[in-house]
Amino acid sequence: MSKKVKPGYNIKMQSDYSGLWQDACARLKQDFTSEGKLNEFSRWFTGVACIRGEGSKLFLSLPSAFHGEKLKKQGYIKSLEAHLLELSGEGLEIAFEVTRKNILAAQPEEPAKEDASASATKSPKAVRKDYPNIRPDYNFDTFVPGDNSAFAYNAAQAISKNPGKAYNPVLFYGGVGLGKTHLIQAIGNTLYQNGAGKIIYVPAETFTNDFINSLQTKTTSNFKSRYRNADVLLIDDIHFFQGKVETQEELFYTFDTLYHAYKQIVFTCDRPISELKDVTDRLKSRFSRGLPIDLQPPKYETRRAILAKKLELQGKTVPSDVLDLIAQNVETNVRDLERALTKILAYGDLINKNITVDIARQQLRDVFNAPNAMGITVETVQRAVAEHYGISLNDLRGQKRNKAVVQPRHLAMYIAGELTQTSTTDIGREFGGRDHSTVMYSQEKIANAIKTDSSLDALVQFLTRKTKEYKGK
Ligand code: ADP
Ligand code: MG
Repeated sequence: MSKKVKPGYNIKMQSDYSGLWQDACARLKQDFTSEGKLNEFSRWFTGVACIRGEGSKLFLSLPSAFHGEKLKKQGYIKSLEAHLLELSGEGLEIAFEVTRKNILAAQPEEPAKEDASASATKSPKAVRKDYPNIRPDYNFDTFVPGDNSAFAYNAAQAISKNPGKAYNPVLFYGGVGLGKTHLIQAIGNTLYQNGAGKIIYVPAETFTNDFINSLQTKTTSNFKSRYRNADVLLIDDIHFFQGKVETQEELFYTFDTLYHAYKQIVFTCDRPISELKDVTDRLKSRFSRGLPIDLQPPKYETRRAILAKKLELQGKTVPSDVLDLIAQNVETNVRDLERALTKILAYGDLINKNITVDIARQQLRDVFNAPNAMGITVETVQRAVAEHYGISLNDLRGQKRNKAVVQPRHLAMYIAGELTQTSTTDIGREFGGRDHSTVMYSQEKIANAIKTDSSLDALVQFLTRKTKEYKGK
């Protein structure tokens, strides 16, 4: 695989560190994938996040010191540092912080003393082995329910108390960064702690890839029995199944087997089921069978409470008028709120100054004035581009590869990256569930091409203007 050094990495802000971490992680994932070891990657890196950067150090949050030792021993840290160097041109060292005490449960192999006493009824071995592929900190304690999410939060708790009985299946749907993944994983964490049997959490993309792998390696019977023997099946981002006919077929049978055995099934999706395209009618009818619950962007009071919670979890403080300012100005989603807070905290840490409202206003100026805060979403970009080319939204987002759609798709991904401050993962999700590395590839391709191709550059500028005008149409 050829690896291009990504130009323009200039580490000044915390978001640069986290962007760099995401990109390095994407490359490492690619290495694992090409060696057929994606599971190994998921096992060690799911839930590992970049907390912050300080000079030439990048801090990762890990479930335990043991986890860090393992990562080192297996050479994964060295590989990550090599990717970081390639990407940024700077030697960065990876350091660890153990973030949550309850993360012990996520520990696959470490002898866990607290664990053994907390779950005396279960064999500690089984407890450790079965831990689903989820973030231990995505639990109900760390989720702040508001008007926009109280129904979802209560339903998620009801499911955790009464799996397979309270509501089954359940679908959480809504836009990016509104807490779907957090809630579905909170269900997983709670059920796990309650000893609910075999819990499988899987992004739709992983389910699809697992299925394809099983076809290639003639191990479909293993695949079937793995999923059909689940006691709880949590599938994130089912819009990814659009257009994947064989996977849908497989999921349909998995669904029926589990449903008739009263096993809990939970889905998340970025849109209502009725808006899914290229999903077979019979699978749609299964998806529609349960309780659909939508998540909306939080209102001011909830935004304020979420910010306070995030601070509490990090053991940090910020003057309350600064929190007011952020809560008032970032209206889009919780992920954007988190970003603004991270930026302010990083600024305070780095220059060792107390944050005031004036500093915050100045530091967050570009966040507040960002096109995203003005309401431009990935979908706005998609609509503007699709309209310009006279193609359907579906084709722009879909899997077709003919000339008429490929270039507009690359352009839309690039412009979305420029205008919406949306991560490549989220952009990929809104383009038919593509992987973030695909999005990065498209964005880099356009970024490079416009350097030498002035007519393409003009086209990008035109489409950017059009997108801004399109907003609100
Ligand atoms: P989605 O899956 O809907 O795109 P996520 O579940 O990934 O969104 O949420 C994005 C981020 O916002 C996560 O870090 C999550 O913990 C946080 N978040 C979302 N909603 C809430 C909430 N109500 N309270 C606390 N954190 C939240
Ligand atoms: Mg999600």
